[in-house]
Amino acid sequence: MFNATHDALTGLPDRVLFLGRLQSVVDRMKRHPHEAAAVLFIDIDDFKVVNDCYGHAIGDVLIKEVSNRLRACMRSDGTIARMGGDEFTVLVEDIADPSDAIRVAERIQASFERPFLLEGLEIFKSTSIGVAMTSPVTSAEAVLQNADIAMYRAKDQGKACSELFDRTMHEQVMNRLLLEAKLRYALQNEELTLHYQPIVAVDTGAVQGFEALLRWQPSESNSIPPSTFVPVAEQCGLIVPISAWVLKTACLEAASWRQRYPADPPLYVGINISSKHFSHAGFIGHVKDALEQSAVDPQCITIELTESLAMNDVAATGQTMSQLRTLGVKLSIDDFGTGYSSLSYLRRFPVDTLKIDQSFVKTMDAENYAIVKTIVGLARNLDLKVVAEGVETPNQHRLLALAGCGSAQGFLFAEPMPANSVGVFIESNRRNSGQTEQKGLARSTAGL
Ligand code: C2E
Ligand code: MG
Ligand code: MG
Repeated sequence: MFNATHDALTGLPDRVLFLGRLQSVVDRMKRHPHEAAAVLFIDIDDFKVVNDCYGHAIGDVLIKEVSNRLRACMRSDGTIARMGGDEFTVLVEDIADPSDAIRVAERIQASFERPFLLEGLEIFKSTSIGVAMTSPVTSAEAVLQNADIAMYRAKDQGKACSELFDRTMHEQVMNRLLLEAKLRYALQNEELTLHYQPIVAVDTGAVQGFEALLRWQPSESNSIPPSTFVPVAEQCGLIVPISAWVLKTACLEAASWRQRYPADPPLYVGINISSKHFSHAGFIGHVKDALEQSAVDPQCITIELTESLAMNDVAATGQTMSQLRTLGVKLSIDDFGTGYSSLSYLRRFPVDTLKIDQSFVKTMDAENYAIVKTIVGLARNLDLKVVAEGVETPNQHRLLALAGCGSAQGFLFAEPMPANSVGVFIESNRRNSGQTEQKGLARSTAGL
């Protein structure tokens, strides 16, 4: 009987036994509602790294050691269980309020400050802990799920900490799941579209290309901005099919511009790629498919990667970038200046363009002007192009010209527009460009 309800590796109760004990606590609370108890959901941070680096045998020793430390932290009557993998739970009974449960979590975390000695290896590990209070009206399963949600919140907060579950957390999770379901529907029912925002030459105002930007207009509600739904798509994996669709659609659009609005160099399209898609095994295949199906000149495609993505896993990033370069597409670093690029990597990666983040352009005080000018100088020395983002005022435009910035994008020139407005924009831009130059961009620093 013991073996059937206990984990073989640690000898701790398993999930079923734990849930049974938790349910009896919940049932008891129905008769004695003033009693309080809590569940701690404990997950070892980055446990996978131990398995990957030292092998599963060492991983198993760590799990056993963790179970011993948990036992040492608990009074004899607390139930500790192993849920599976690197997840443990603790049932803390007879407490006065949540602060008692938090104190137990802190005790557990403090016990992880000492290193683990695993067959001669000294390894430091931390844990993330979610805490949920029991209540007479919440089933054992639901309490466990609440503690699990709080544990994920602790991971999001940067790991090695505890979080107490509250109702808003539950609401946020439910809202996210709802948005995820709606997004799945949106992808299948063509509720997603691309808008295109012009990128122009700073000196003449002539359009050089467009950035493709996702738009979502659900049939029964207001439009939802990419800053809301892209992170959800990234979390649930939907970003991969969405982003493959973006690649295909934007490449087809760029191929049609080539025919309808020939230019030298041809108009290009900038396509944002999230790190989840960039590091996905199918990514290069998706780019190839989009290029082949559209028959677009790969030189007209610029992949925009955010700066922090590029620096995440330098070796893998460099390899994928080189594959893209072999396909003939160009690369730009988006939101440049907000991440943590090592300048030497900028030289090593096959990058073509830096996009100066709009935060530097928005408030062009003396300090930000100096930053913009420095980025432009850096780009010139490395033979890279520069696009300033978020240009909204003629003064910002003038200062960008003064700093020697080659290209710009922003509401001053045009907001993102649907594909069927691009033609009208190009034609009017061709009639008007050059006028900016003729009017003359004032060459003084007055107004900084
Ligand atoms: P981003 O790539 O930096 O795109 C520029 C954002 O700045 C766009 O916001 C654009 O509408 C906005 N913008 C352009 N000019 C101005 C201006 O003058 N003033 C201000 N205040 N904003 C301006 P949007 O379209 O809301 O997109 C936000 C972010 O969502 C993008 O930032 C990008 O990171 C992401 N995103 C958009 N489309 C895609 C996509 O197809 N795939 C992925 N992975 N991410 C996307
Ligand atoms: Mg971008
Ligand atoms: Mg940007």
